[in-house]
Amino acid sequence: MVKEKAAILKDCNIRTHYNKDFAAKLRHSLNEFDSDTHKKVRVEARKCKVCFYLRGTRISGQAFTTTLCQSCGVSMTFPTTDVDFYCLPCSKELLLCVDCGGDINLRSRKKL
Ligand SMILES: [Zn+2]
Ligand SMILES: [Zn+2]
Repeated sequence: MVKEKAAILKDCNIRTHYNKDFAAKLRHSLNEFDSDTHKKVRVEARKCKVCFYLRGTRISGQAFTTTLCQSCGVSMTFPTTDVDFYCLPCSKELLLCVDCGGDINLRSRKKL
């Protein structure tokens, strides 16, 4: 579909507006990541800094999903296909992110 120059210009400006907005939000998220602005909420949610500040909402399907905790095997049910790796007690004990399974403080570790 061929567009008139005026329409292309309008589309260009709309896209540019969203691009600037996207970059500003990303910068804001990186600042929060660096200062761990919401540490209390993040630790409570058992998420690492990357998952909490940078990955955003995980894409998931609308279907109840049951999975097992990868550490203790307890059965966990979630309202979507977006499931956690570990149950809350295990993630708390092992200091693992429930979203990605990485260290909650982004530390490389030799043992659990
Ligand atoms: Zn567990
Ligand atoms: Zn994570």
